[in-house]
Amino acid sequence: MDVPALSATEARVLGCLMEKAATTPEHYPLSLNAVVTACNQSTNRDPVVHYDDDTAEAALTSLRERGLARRIKAAGARVIKYSHVVDEALSLDAGARAVLGVLLLRGEQTPGELRARTERWHTFATADEIDATLRELADRGLVAVLARRPGQKEARWTQLLTPVSAPESSPVATHATPEPDVATDDARTLQSAAPMARRLVVRDPATGAVLDELDVDDERAVDGKIARARAAQPHWAARAYDDRALALLAFRDLLERDEETLARTTTEETGKPIRQSRNEIRAARERVEWFVDHVPAATAPSTVTERVDLVERVTYEPAGVVAHISAWNYPYFVALNSVVPALLTGNAVLYKPSEHATRTGTRIVRLLHEAGVPLDVVQLVVGAGPTGGALAAGAVDVVCFTGSYRTGVAVAQAAAANLTRVQLELGGKDGAYVCDDVDIAATAAAVAEGVFYNAGQSCCAIERLYVHDAVHDAFVAALVEIADAYVVGDPLDERTDIGPLARFEQLDVLDAQVADAVAKGARVVAGGGRHERGAGWYRPTVIADATPSMRVMRDESFGPIIGVQRVADDEHALVALDDTDYGLTGAVFTRDRARAERILARLDTGTVYWNCSDRTTTRLPWAGRRHSGLGVSLSEAGVRAFVREKAWHEVPPHERGG
Ligand code: NAD
Repeated sequence: MDVPALSATEARVLGCLMEKAATTPEHYPLSLNAVVTACNQSTNRDPVVHYDDDTAEAALTSLRERGLARRIKAAGARVIKYSHVVDEALSLDAGARAVLGVLLLRGEQTPGELRARTERWHTFATADEIDATLRELADRGLVAVLARRPGQKEARWTQLLTPVSAPESSPVATHATPEPDVATDDARTLQSAAPMARRLVVRDPATGAVLDELDVDDERAVDGKIARARAAQPHWAARAYDDRALALLAFRDLLERDEETLARTTTEETGKPIRQSRNEIRAARERVEWFVDHVPAATAPSTVTERVDLVERVTYEPAGVVAHISAWNYPYFVALNSVVPALLTGNAVLYKPSEHATRTGTRIVRLLHEAGVPLDVVQLVVGAGPTGGALAAGAVDVVCFTGSYRTGVAVAQAAAANLTRVQLELGGKDGAYVCDDVDIAATAAAVAEGVFYNAGQSCCAIERLYVHDAVHDAFVAALVEIADAYVVGDPLDERTDIGPLARFEQLDVLDAQVADAVAKGARVVAGGGRHERGAGWYRPTVIADATPSMRVMRDESFGPIIGVQRVADDEHALVALDDTDYGLTGAVFTRDRARAERILARLDTGTVYWNCSDRTTTRLPWAGRRHSGLGVSLSEAGVRAFVREKAWHEVPPHERGG
């Protein structure tokens, strides 16, 4: 038999049949019910899934058609049962079945992990035995070894029954450009134009290796999830606040327990340096605590008029079902800024992580379930743009979206048909002004952090820099020195400051911005192109003598690049800072607080920074203006995005005197 090409669902179902046959033969073959339970098990599975009967049954039918499973109806028995026939179809002995089965259920693994995890299935007396089994399976094209990542001691193996998980043949050091995924949607394609792929392929931007392949939620699946959320929400809302808060605090503790695994997952799929992934998870824990402490005050009922003949008061009710469509660049902040207050205020949540951070999203949802949030109250929605479009157009009550301006417009259009409330956190082209009174070294360090942190992939990164003529040359020299000294490398390496970009198409945008700037007379004084490290890396780039018409000063760069323009005075800086369609943040660096306030008060941005940049806090509202967004998140105002006000007009009856 040829190597069968299975979908992720078929692979999961087959793996479960193989596992139960080996580990609980007394309960084997399995009923449909038992298959569903086995598939959805939260232990020994990666990823954890939530299949319904229809999904599992469709996979069983397809496995039967391919000669990999069989239906059994014992005489007199009412229930139909299912068994696998892998031993016959693929001529596998018990050891080979164990290895293949565990690979089907838990993804790529090292021989050491495989040996430990097959213990309940089959005994491999020595490490050599498992190596021999892997080699035999590899000779038959059923498994393959993956290219070893820097720092990895043991090679990882993958099964080849789900075809897109084929290993990278390129040696690790070359970091070959991944082929464009036919199965991955162009996230920037507007909903109406984009076809829906069936599978989502998650790749590591540092190596190009396939990390995962997931079934995409199509429109029907999205609608099914919305219906389940709708049914579950009233029960969740009916619980005491403390009950919901306890679940979220348990989630916070799980973030701490699993911090290292979670950080690695994010780094592997987004390219974010590992130290920065850890920082984000730690800060996210504090955000959870803040929301738990502040949601009651933000949604406390209030009485505005209290007379004998009239009482007027306001109460707050959950909005209902909240859809959250996420960006990948700060997957914890972006998701939890919505998901946590939405859950605490009694809503059900459908969370679609970015296609570039779906493994992180899967882990977040899994931990929320482990913490006690019911399965239907928070659900993962998998997919790229078209899935997001289906969610935005679905029968939900609030759509929270974080992403680019262009996609934000598409989301608002999709939601408009139902008049669904939208909350849009969009891109920026944030400017910073360095005055003539600054400490040059300290300010250059602070500005560089604002420009280059997370390889410049922050919505509120400094993207345009205006420097006072009096300090311009010294400042640019200091900035270049810092940019040149950054460690550009493997994001899993502790020393790395700048990893690969998560979206490789952004490298073309950066190239075009450099070329345009140079053509219009700018000077590249640091970096200026792709890094020899590999396909996803860009060199930290500083462009001097930038002018307002250059693309690097107008279009969101979302990469490690900065244009610097010389300005004559504060008024000149103000005009330049305001010369943008975006309105997320603006920053001024000066020793003089009054001077900073004068400038910042006149900026048309939702956030202003004095001597800092690129920061958010739960305590303050986050609200982009113009092309940077709609609505408020974070702070008590952000909590109220997830509730509906109810106005009470109460006229007590007149008491007649005796
Ligand atoms: P993106 O717009 O490409 O995608 C964002 C999300 O929208 C993804 O989950 C994607 O699958 C989904 N999507 C794509 N097309 C859709 C459609 N037609 N309908 C519904 N959903 C759709 O953005 P990205 O690359 O993930 O993120 C980068 C952008 O996000 C940058 O512009 C950045 O500035 C912005 N961002 C803003 C904030 C903020 O707080 N303002 C925070 C983080 C990121």
